[in-house]
Amino acid sequence: MSVEEEVEIEVKCPYENCNSTKIIKVPGYLFKTKQFGTVKIQVNKGVVCSEHQFIIFVDKKGLIRSYEKIDAQLTIIKKAKEEPIAKLSLNDVIDKIGEFPALNITHALLLNIPIVIFKNKEKSELEDNLIGICKKFLPKEFKENESIKFLLRKNLKNIENLNVLALDEEGYIIKSPWEITSFEFEKELLNKTLGAKDINAQSIIFRQIFENLIKKVEFVYELLRSSESLYEEDLKIKLAEKFLQKKVSDYDIDLIKEILKYRYLENVSKIKIRSFDKLKESLW
Ligand SMILES: [Zn+2]
Repeated sequence: MSVEEEVEIEVKCPYENCNSTKIIKVPGYLFKTKQFGTVKIQVNKGVVCSEHQFIIFVDKKGLIRSYEKIDAQLTIIKKAKEEPIAKLSLNDVIDKIGEFPALNITHALLLNIPIVIFKNKEKSELEDNLIGICKKFLPKEFKENESIKFLLRKNLKNIENLNVLALDEEGYIIKSPWEITSFEFEKELLNKTLGAKDINAQSIIFRQIFENLIKKVEFVYELLRSSESLYEEDLKIKLAEKFLQKKVSDYDIDLIKEILKYRYLENVSKIKIRSFDKLKESLW
């Protein structure tokens, strides 16, 4: 299969009472390597039907394995397809690559997971702008060298065993090392950043929110170092007290645990849930 070849996929809107169907075309190269799960594709409003957007999980044979419904995610101004990306415009970069892929990239940056993006041509306006924005936005100590790499599509080799986020510049997610598809924190981070008036204000907001989260992660990291085990219930209280946060949710804890696991290579099994322990006790 040549790099240019396309595969046709019949997509049916997963919303009840809709069931609109459409054939979409995706680059065939996505499916030609050895298997590493499914390719995730965000289907925007207007592609299959005018009302809904969702994610499809497509297997190696080009068959849809599952759907996931998603809400509107990011507040961006959509541009015409052929319009170029304005220099270092976060809006335009997200518009180009897609909202769900942008959330995945932000998640990978938080987790310090390398990102590989496959491009069609040597010259990619997305490459210059995305790398430029990361340089501008990321806090100094988190600007790891080459955390984002662009490669030509023809170089997609077996990335099965690599711990990377791999995607195509048109937004197809080829591989992500995590399972979650809900990116609440990343959504808030990008929306607040997009709301700032210019790139300098954006970079300040992005960095502040990013660093605040990292402070919480490091607080938990220190607690873990000095204790045998921690209960999530206690952790929530400690975090709320320390950071004057009204409510610390299960999602907050899961995100912190995920960052500890990937960025700090910390054993998060020390963080336990008290009710589970109680249950175990009562079973014995
Ligand atoms: Zn629909």
